[in-house]
Amino acid sequence: MTRTKLSAPSQAATSDSIAQALSLAIHEHRISPGTKLVEDELAEIYGVSRTVIRASLHSLSHIQLVEIRRNKGASVASPSLVEAHEVFEARELLEPRTAHCAAERTTSTDIAKLERHIDDEHAALEAADPGRALYLSGLFHNEIARIAGQATIAGFIETLVARSSLIIALYWRRESALCEKHAHHALVQALADKNGKLAEELMRSHLVDLHSALDLRERNGRALSLKDALLQ
Ligand SMILES: [Zn+2]
Repeated sequence: MTRTKLSAPSQAATSDSIAQALSLAIHEHRISPGTKLVEDELAEIYGVSRTVIRASLHSLSHIQLVEIRRNKGASVASPSLVEAHEVFEARELLEPRTAHCAAERTTSTDIAKLERHIDDEHAALEAADPGRALYLSGLFHNEIARIAGQATIAGFIETLVARSSLIIALYWRRESALCEKHAHHALVQALADKNGKLAEELMRSHLVDLHSALDLRERNGRALSLKDALLQ
């Protein structure tokens, strides 16, 4: 995947490319949960009409990265503590079973793709870009759901993964993402071996581990103006 930052308004920005750029900015913690996403301001930043911005914000609201309230406009979603637990509990219910199904269906092309995801994640970490690593690790989970071939569940998982990124942005307490790297390697190996039972167990313990890495007392997040966050 190529990086889309859309820093120059002269680039031909579409609602999809703007949605992708905003999603990445949220994952990279450049825009904090709760930040207001003002249509006029975004239209100016990206050099497009408000209609294009509105379409981007709507697509982000479908995966619950953005909340749109009548008369109040759009803001980056800000999940509560209760919701943080619920999201991880839902993932712990869905994803181990999905990993099991994926192990039964996975092809060598799928394995190569998952390995590329892990390499990209490592590269992001080495480049001191943990936000991008977080974004890529989400895509890794979505990819396993896609391999499992259950479109309905994959849709739920995509929403939960997007929600998890916000939760991690708010409540993450672990400095290193090293465990994640090992967990993903072990998962890919189990899928390559078509060992469904092991893939299921590894996915469950990986999610329990992520859940336990949330700090439920403290919030962090820095405030940048939209312009500073999106044009840097
Ligand atoms: Zn993971």
